[in-house]
Amino acid sequence: AKQDGRGKHRFFTETMDAEAVKRLKMENDLRRSLANNEILVYFQPKVSCPDGHILGMEALVRWQKNGKLISPADFVPLAEDVGLIVPIGRYVLTKSCQLTEKWRKSTGQNLKVAVNVSARQFKDDDLIQAVEDALSETGLPISALELEVTESALMQNPEATKKVLEELRKMGATIALDDFGTGYSSLSYLRFFPIDVLKIDKSFVDGAPADQDANMLLRAILAMAQGLKLRVVAEGVESADQVRFLHSLGANSIQGYYFSRPLPDQEMGSLLAKKVVF
Ligand code: C2E
Ligand code: CA
Ligand code: CA
Ligand code: CA
Repeated sequence: AKQDGRGKHRFFTETMDAEAVKRLKMENDLRRSLANNEILVYFQPKVSCPDGHILGMEALVRWQKNGKLISPADFVPLAEDVGLIVPIGRYVLTKSCQLTEKWRKSTGQNLKVAVNVSARQFKDDDLIQAVEDALSETGLPISALELEVTESALMQNPEATKKVLEELRKMGATIALDDFGTGYSSLSYLRFFPIDVLKIDKSFVDGAPADQDANMLLRAILAMAQGLKLRVVAEGVESADQVRFLHSLGANSIQGYYFSRPLPDQEMGSLLAKKVVF
């Protein structure tokens, strides 16, 4: 830290340095882990409502750091800041396509996979190339690929992002709006962007069906989605009552701990092999 003769300021500078050093170390660790196959992809089933079939799964990244599993909340923001989300995203995409194509073949079912995409991946403008590469490497048909984008990611560069999404959709991919309702923008963007699916955020599902306010919001969201002809996935579903309620409102599919937590690929594979109907 600089010697500026003012105790308070120097302390602040040292704290900043320590933070910067910590981040730099984490960045290096993450880079090394990516090279060493310590970035894992977990899968959470998406279940059709109400018949309980597995329609597909969402890919969720994990970092296996010194044997410990780190959740995306604890490294994706850093990976976004330093640009590492681009190669990590490519890895997750390829791995997801590869495993899904394998499971489609082994089960004979038309399974879909949903992959999360950060704003930063749109900025780097090679998202389309990454998708083309992943599909040609793995043989997954693009109709089996869904991309999940959050509202805040869309809003970082609306015009450019819209172009990329339109291209991907023309190629045959499905676009899902993730964490719907948690952003602060107007609803007009629902018609501005090419969106096929709304994913209702867990925060709206949590209170249902006991809390009347939560129910009212869910009802309004489902009615709006149906009016706009969007399919609806509810996430964070943890109880049978929630499943019943969401079904009564017309939700198309459901994801949550009630059916399954995100699973390592071998476990997802065995679940599919058993042809489980929830
Ligand atoms: P998300 O896309 O909203 O994913 C849903 C999160 O909710 C996941 O957390 C999932 O494990 C969790 N979840 C699912 N069902 C339930 C439930 O019934 N109860 C509860 N309490 N939680 C449930 P996870 O895996 O920790 O991921 C957190 C976030 O990290 C994701 O939120 C997503 O925004 C981001 N993320 C995950 N994988 C990737 C990735 O490959 N790329 C990018 N860019 N972001 C990712
Ligand atoms: Ca998601
Ligand atoms: Ca989500
Ligand atoms: Ca969420």
